[in-house]
Amino acid sequence: MKSEAKSKKYDVVIVGSGVAGSLVAHSLVQRGISCLMLEAGARLDRGQLLDRFQNAAVKDTMAPYPSLKHAPHPIPSRPDDYLIQKGPDRYDSQYIRAVGGTTWHWAAAAWRLLPNDFRLKSTYGVGRDWGLAYDTLEPYYGKAEGTLGVSGDKNEDLGSPRSHPYPMGPIPLSYMDSTFSRELNRVGYKVVTEPVARNSQPFDGRPQCCGNNNCMPICPIGAQYSGDVHARKAEGAGTKLVPNAVADFIEVDALGKVSRVRYRDPSGTAQWAVGRYFVLAANGIETPKLLLLSRSVRTPKGVANSSDQVGRNLMDHPGTAMTFLVPKPLYPGRGPQEMTSIVNLRDGAFRKEFSAKKIHLSNQVDTNGITKELLAKNLYGKALDQKIKQLSLRRLRLDAFHEILPDPENRIVPSESLSDGLGIPRPEIHYRIGDYVRKSAQDTRSHFAKIAAAMGGEEAQFLDDFAPNSHLMGTTIMGTIGKDSVVNTDCQTHDHSNLFIASSAVFASAACVNPTLTIAALSLRLADHLHRKLKSKVSVGA
Ligand SMILES: Cc1cc2nc3c(=O)[nH]c(=O)nc-3n(C[C@H](O)[C@H](O)[C@H](O)COP(=O)(O)OP(=O)(O)OC[C@H]3O[C@@H](n4cnc5c(N)ncnc54)[C@H](O)[C@@H]3O)c2cc1C
Ligand code: SF4
Repeated sequence: MKSEAKSKKYDVVIVGSGVAGSLVAHSLVQRGISCLMLEAGARLDRGQLLDRFQNAAVKDTMAPYPSLKHAPHPIPSRPDDYLIQKGPDRYDSQYIRAVGGTTWHWAAAAWRLLPNDFRLKSTYGVGRDWGLAYDTLEPYYGKAEGTLGVSGDKNEDLGSPRSHPYPMGPIPLSYMDSTFSRELNRVGYKVVTEPVARNSQPFDGRPQCCGNNNCMPICPIGAQYSGDVHARKAEGAGTKLVPNAVADFIEVDALGKVSRVRYRDPSGTAQWAVGRYFVLAANGIETPKLLLLSRSVRTPKGVANSSDQVGRNLMDHPGTAMTFLVPKPLYPGRGPQEMTSIVNLRDGAFRKEFSAKKIHLSNQVDTNGITKELLAKNLYGKALDQKIKQLSLRRLRLDAFHEILPDPENRIVPSESLSDGLGIPRPEIHYRIGDYVRKSAQDTRSHFAKIAAAMGGEEAQFLDDFAPNSHLMGTTIMGTIGKDSVVNTDCQTHDHSNLFIASSAVFASAACVNPTLTIAALSLRLADHLHRKLKSKVSVGA
């Protein structure tokens, strides 16, 4: 790797080219700010990803995405290869280390949080407040929807006030989803069409969704937003993007400012990236790991960690599920993999006692699971074939995301004994799911039973395994008091005035909806903040 990235002082150095890092870079570079974006993983090509998925023997959700020796990531078929589970509960969430990051592979659910999600402590006496109000972030939610391309139904009130319309109308519901909505709304649930970063019409040079149900692990046609869109746009507008560049140390100068970031290429050779401002956008696991690895005489507990909160308050959305059979075929598997959600359990006084939740109907068909089940019952040949068809058409699955509270004991730390191919410590996870979630999960079970009954369902099976949902939150938590939080409401670290974080790592509450639209809104707001700081001394090519 040659000297340009090394010797040049950039206005902003960004670590990570997922949706967070790429939005910051794109927003700034368009306004004349020079940006360097370091990305641990390689560039990906959609066509090659599809080939790899089609040819994979085990077609799990990460099948198209190889885990690289120099920048490994978790793989479901080999759960102990990268994240080290120290329990008592498992946190085997996934993410992708590659140009564009984890949204290569997502369901594109694009939710806004509710106003109360930002003030959980002051409203319900549990968890924390962000210090940031919904109303402050609201304009950026609108910008984020317009930037990613979100399809949504303007006639549905989701509880998050809006000042902008969705850029696109909703994707039409499938027969299964419209039947589900009708039946459940009739018995008092509020079922809505999920807002999604998926095109209901051609948008931003990408085609409209054609409903082929392959959203996870890869949308073949790019109708679904992925972070590579803005990684490419940022690069096209002049950002210097360095793939296969693994940041492993942050240096702080005598004035307490970050001076440079060290990164390594796949051979282990080190280079330094120099900037005026630094943005860490390496997700909720790798960002705190990098901060904690950066111990020095000036930063003995790691960078930005005078509060000892870096890596702590790790959250996700512990998941439970139910499958059941409906009396007549509803044909799951037509259209995108997720389309409708129950939202009336997202907020209420019950949050004083147990967690909020969002329940959504899956539109995936578990042919693999059904076949394994039937083989275990010794079904073969024609009988097996018929039964697979019958069950695939009638089996529905509901998933519940539960809100977990920030708990300092739930944390990620760099391992002291196990490292990756570059000798960088692997993430070690300590995670416990407490009573706040467990109590809510019991309540969820009773809702599941009611829902199955409302659909005339039978053979309900409950999965109470608190499955991880790859929403990596809380590990550089936001707050107004530097003693117990890592960043302030501008995503600026309390300890270092030129170091910022763009990630769900800053979330002070998990709420119960997918985090990425909020990450995008915070990233766009951060870019405006940095632009204001830099605009008096814009120095492209300095
Ligand atoms: C199966 C699945 C389904 C999901 N579905 C949804 C959904 O429907 N809706 C939703 O809102 N969210 C969903 N998510 C979560 C969503 O993907 C993440 O919230 C989102 O990708 C986070 O964006 P990010 O840019 O913060 O992090 P990432 O996308 O993870 O990007 C971080 C980047 O940093 C890079 N990096 C890491 N370490 C280093 C380093 N040391 N040096 C340099 N670069 C580094 C990584 O390689 C990566 O490119 C899903 C996730 C998964 C796995
Ligand atoms: S249904 Fe098909 S086209 Fe639509 S977003 Fe999913 S994978 Fe892409």
